[in-house]
Amino acid sequence: MRIKNLPAASIEFIAVGSELLTPHFQDTNSLFVAEKLQELGRELSFKTTVGDRLDDLKLAIKIARKRSWLIFICGGLGPTEDDRTRQAVAEVLGLKLVFRRDILEKIRKRFETRGLRMSPSNRRQAYVLEGSEVLENPHGTAPGLWLERRKQIFVLLPGPPPEFRPMVENLVIPKLKERYGQVQVLRSVIRVTGAGESLVEDLIKPVYRSLPERMQLITLAAPGDIQIRLSLPVRRKPQRDVAAFNRVKEKLLGLLGRLVYSTDGEPLEKVVGDLLRSSGKTLACAESCTGGLLAHRITSVPGSSDYFLESIVTYSNESKLRELGVSAELLRQKGAVSEEVAREMAEKVRTKAGADYGLSTTGIAGPGGGTETKPVGLVYTGLAFSGGTVVVKNMFSGNRERIKFQTTQKALDMLRLKLLEEIGQTEKK
Ligand code: AMP
Ligand code: MG
Repeated sequence: MRIKNLPAASIEFIAVGSELLTPHFQDTNSLFVAEKLQELGRELSFKTTVGDRLDDLKLAIKIARKRSWLIFICGGLGPTEDDRTRQAVAEVLGLKLVFRRDILEKIRKRFETRGLRMSPSNRRQAYVLEGSEVLENPHGTAPGLWLERRKQIFVLLPGPPPEFRPMVENLVIPKLKERYGQVQVLRSVIRVTGAGESLVEDLIKPVYRSLPERMQLITLAAPGDIQIRLSLPVRRKPQRDVAAFNRVKEKLLGLLGRLVYSTDGEPLEKVVGDLLRSSGKTLACAESCTGGLLAHRITSVPGSSDYFLESIVTYSNESKLRELGVSAELLRQKGAVSEEVAREMAEKVRTKAGADYGLSTTGIAGPGGGTETKPVGLVYTGLAFSGGTVVVKNMFSGNRERIKFQTTQKALDMLRLKLLEEIGQTEKK
């Protein structure tokens, strides 16, 4: 497909609705648009959320006009007094609102087929901006509008997501695609674990210096999981773009080494699962502080029954003793959150299940239960294998949920590195 170049400026999304400025509602429609635009190789440059006051709405539209060629305005097309989007656009652009009897008839019919009477206020929805094209709304009364003015496009859409989404997907995106084509975008999501955000930033610093101009590098950091998202829209010389993209990607991979667990966005549980399957090995877990989260993550991957045998959630000391046979003496002397108990848990579950690997977690997820010597966030993760057992002492921060997640991430990563090491050894032989 021939790709025409778009006007250089930005794409903007304006979410209209006073409810979106309260603590109770969120603008999710812009996320949907962003996702759909991505399929065309485009992205939003600005998002604005504005209440229902006419003056505010007009100001938001005026600002958008100065900087964007494609402007989505979502919400405020309803039948009530506070729905003022049409009026605001008309006033800013100096356009008339034209009454369309055919639209009113459609709305009336919609009510009639449901055995309802149309309210007189619905008449408002039959007014369209002069020169605009009507976008049908099969799931509601408010039609959308598509207006082109001096190289700018305004797309007005109703707010309720069940109406908004199909209109974007079935009407707006195909129209944009037909007009402007689809830009091919090279993308890669590099995922990293085992290092904090600042260390990762330090490691990849050299890449920023030589980043091609149109290439985007976005880092999304969460505790225990960092994503580096690379994208480059392909322009007139595709081979050059592909080469430039790969150069950056390879450089990043070289700098990060084994911290990288995936280069195509796949989650760690999938990566570990694939390694287990390809090496024909099995896994069993004994979980304390993760309460089954480790098993949940592992079994979120379809086909995990190929390698995953079981996970025992041994939360109490009693259960560690009864289900795993961890020694009572050890529990008394060292406590459940200890290197020794993590070691026994991993070893015992491995033997009991007859698995190649045993993983264990035991720690203090908080917010209570911490002491001076064993603070909240202290977690031991253990990995037992045929040649021995390793236990790592971790100090995680954050709330309970984050500590639990980081624990599973660490346990899975220990197994990943072990599997890579063993695969490397068999390859050498
Ligand atoms: P409207 O009558 O077109 O202003 O839209 C009304 C309903 O759509 C409200 O109840 C909102 O909860 C929902 N809505 C409006 N805008 C958005 C948005 N940007 N994201 C998600 N929901 C929205
Ligand atoms: Mg509204």
